[in-house]
Amino acid sequence: MSEAFHNFIAGEWVGADDAVADINPSDTNDVIGLYPRASVADVARAIAAAKAAFPVWSRSTAQERYDVLKKISDEILARREELGRILSREEGKTLAEGIGETVRAGQIFAFFAGEALRLGGDTVPSVRPGVGIEVTREAIGVVGLICPWNFPVAIPAWKIAPALVYGNTVVIKPAELVPGTALALAEIISRAGLPAGAFNLVNGPGSVVGEALINSRDVAAISFTGSVGTGRRVALAAVSSNPMKKVQLEMGGKNPLVVLDDADLKIAVECAANGAFFSTGQRCTASSRLIVTEGIHDRFVDALTERLKSLVVGDALKPGTHIGPVVDGKQLEQDLKYIATGKAEGGKLVFGGELLNRETPGFYLSPALFTEVPNSATIAREEIFGPVASVTRVRDYDEALAVANDTEFGLSAGICTTSLKYATHFRRNAEAGMVMVNLATAGVDYHVPFGGRKGSSYGPREQGAYAKEFYTTVKTAYTLA
Ligand code: ADP
Repeated sequence: MSEAFHNFIAGEWVGADDAVADINPSDTNDVIGLYPRASVADVARAIAAAKAAFPVWSRSTAQERYDVLKKISDEILARREELGRILSREEGKTLAEGIGETVRAGQIFAFFAGEALRLGGDTVPSVRPGVGIEVTREAIGVVGLICPWNFPVAIPAWKIAPALVYGNTVVIKPAELVPGTALALAEIISRAGLPAGAFNLVNGPGSVVGEALINSRDVAAISFTGSVGTGRRVALAAVSSNPMKKVQLEMGGKNPLVVLDDADLKIAVECAANGAFFSTGQRCTASSRLIVTEGIHDRFVDALTERLKSLVVGDALKPGTHIGPVVDGKQLEQDLKYIATGKAEGGKLVFGGELLNRETPGFYLSPALFTEVPNSATIAREEIFGPVASVTRVRDYDEALAVANDTEFGLSAGICTTSLKYATHFRRNAEAGMVMVNLATAGVDYHVPFGGRKGSSYGPREQGAYAKEFYTTVKTAYTLA
């Protein structure tokens, strides 16, 4: 019998009428637990609890907020191995990646704990005699947090921490594929000293729990990370509701990594291997388009292929694994479909793209590298969200930049070069929210803004001090003294 878990609503652990099994993608015989599928009524209770807790929590002191977030951070960091293991078991990234992400979540809570003490305002002279002006920030209300499966602890952390520290109350919906990590995090948060109802977690399908959140009049803001299609739906619902909701969307990417003739080959290969294939390529910042100039093209492809041969695809929890399985059967099917399309459209599959058998039944796919892929090909345009990357051959830097920017997305963009001139030009002209020089497009710090342009993002940035743009509302107060 698998352990049955509950939702966290109004300060209590509550069962649901329906449940879903959480399956280990490295071993589909391994059922991690049974997780609740909340009903619309469950979500309504969570929202009501968050609404009731708002007057209390939004008036808490900076010290109280600091203490709560610091406590959460300390426990996450102390239990990094255990939480990282839960994460890797249900999501399929390697244990090192799972522990690393857990540490990141702890660091995020620590950073935002400090933000409680740093939230300032402005005092401005008035144009009128005797009047003083104060510009301050206040909490927004109940915030709904809708999360994806690919970063099961870091993304919930970077939404929950700023939401709470600026005085909002929270209803979070984790992705259905990764309820275990979110629940472990919720258990830590449940003991951190928040008033009952300030934090609620409801597991369940997007079509039920997500829709109930985006349609509720009592939810003031929605922070969403997921696919473009669902993001658009969330935004439409947010502006159709009365009152209109604040909305923040982080969606897909089709991130270019440009490799110029003058690049350090070792660095370029490492950036490509890491950026495109680590975390099984399931990152919105993955370098899925490798744009390579003619003079280094063949050497780069050969060296990258050699590097891919050295990577071990296997059970996420097994020591020595570099790339874990794809998250589930549906995602694997999608990856294989894109690989077939890549071949059908004339791309040359020079490595991988094959299903692999391991000791246990799982969704194992070798990293797929295509070459001779024009930027117009489907696999160069659509986000695959798997271990699949394509190389596009270009003449020179100018063509590389044009190809890099020729996409509907704009999350992250990278360049490998030893030229200050090209690096500087690329930093200024890449149409992306984040630009990397001699670094992988994936892998970011936690104290600076994260987000993109064009079809990748909508609304204020997440993370760092910029997070307050979304999680607070500004008040301008005039006083005649
Ligand atoms: P993915 O395909 O990567 O799972 P989705 O955009 O479908 O991306 O999912 C991201 C999050 O949005 C998940 O938590 C999912 O349950 C939720 N979601 C899916 N559909 C809806 C919807 N109609 N309304 C609100 N949330 C949704």
